Amino acid sequence: MQNWQDEILKAWEAKKGKFKVSDDLRDRLATQFRGEVLYGEPMNAHTSMRVGGPADIFLKPVDLEDLKTIIRLAEEEQIPVTHLGSGSNTLVKDGGIRGMVVVPPATLSQCRLVDQGDDWGDLEVESAVKITRAVHSAREHSLSGLEPLVGIPGTIGGALFMNAGAHGVEMKDLVRSLTVLEKGGEVISLGREKLEFEYRKLKIPRTSFILSGIFRLKKGNREEISARMERYQKWRIEKQPLHFPNVGSVFKNPLPAKKGEKIPSAGQLIDEAGLKNVRIGGARISEKHANFIINENKAIARDVLVLINLARDKVKEMTGILLEPEVRIIGED
Ligand SMILES: Cc1cc2nc3c(=O)[nH]c(=O)nc-3n(C[C@H](O)[C@H](O)[C@H](O)COP(=O)(O)OP(=O)(O)OC[C@H]3O[C@@H](n4cnc5c(N)ncnc54)[C@H](O)[C@@H]3O)c2cc1C
Repeated sequence: MQNWQDEILKAWEAKKGKFKVSDDLRDRLATQFRGEVLYGEPMNAHTSMRVGGPADIFLKPVDLEDLKTIIRLAEEEQIPVTHLGSGSNTLVKDGGIRGMVVVPPATLSQCRLVDQGDDWGDLEVESAVKITRAVHSAREHSLSGLEPLVGIPGTIGGALFMNAGAHGVEMKDLVRSLTVLEKGGEVISLGREKLEFEYRKLKIPRTSFILSGIFRLKKGNREEISARMERYQKWRIEKQPLHFPNVGSVFKNPLPAKKGEKIPSAGQLIDEAGLKNVRIGGARISEKHANFIINENKAIARDVLVLINLARDKVKEMTGILLEPEVRIIGED
């Protein structure tokens, strides 16, 4: 979808690397924004892969009003804004990010039961809440549905944007509505019927900042919910290389052309291409799970990108299947 930020981004791309934060912009941030402003902030400190060059301006708003100030300021000054949660699905290139990067304010960290019926409850979760905390909060209310997502790193904002999922359950199956911050600082609510989800993607303008989501969950037995959470958590520890920085599944699993058709997962395809354990610089295709790339020794984004391209090209050559990245790759080379 074309919007004001796409235009701005195009103009900025044309002057690649030439952007300087003006004194005027620094003044405006100093006087109008109450949160923390970090200039030239290395993105390896804010992404689970621990790679990525500097963001020109990294902003931590204190509350919703502060976040609105940023959205308005970016519009007025024609500066691209990148939204970020925990950076657990984001790979930032070594040249870093031009413009502003903004994370949700810590005040957006509530989970509350907002409605309930005989056998269901609606849990509202704000965007800064970690996914696993939301699952625990649902369990505290004896609400079931979110358990398969326990252990997925990241925020609820990122999970909604990514339509995160596991074990056959995705955000789209549980969400009833979203609240988002739009252009001009307007807060709007979007009902389920207005939300278009795809595999690992919610189709909303890149400029919409997700503030919260309401999940419709089933009432259940707390002990049974706990047991399921434990099972899913154990599965992650067994299957995923969690001892090294990584970004989760690098590629989406290919979708079958026909319902019921069985096709190999991205991990299987990469494994069959003989790429497990292949290393470039400080990055390696995991021995434990071939759809994971681990940062085992001070990798840079380029190392990871070379492995991504290698896996994509080799699998295409051997099977004809073109793997599509699940990880969001952003920034300049
Ligand atoms: C070990 C590991 C295991 C994982 N397992 C799974 C899994 O089983 N299933 C799965 O789906 N994913 C998995 N992931 C990927 C990742 O954890 C999820 O996609 C998660 O939801 C990302 O949340 P985040 O806050 O880190 O998002 P980020 O990486 O910060 O952002 C992801 C995208 O969302 C956008 N975004 C973030 N917050 C907002 C907001 N408030 N408003 C608007 N846009 C926003 C960003 O611009 C970006 O495009 C895994 C990752 C790791 C490292």
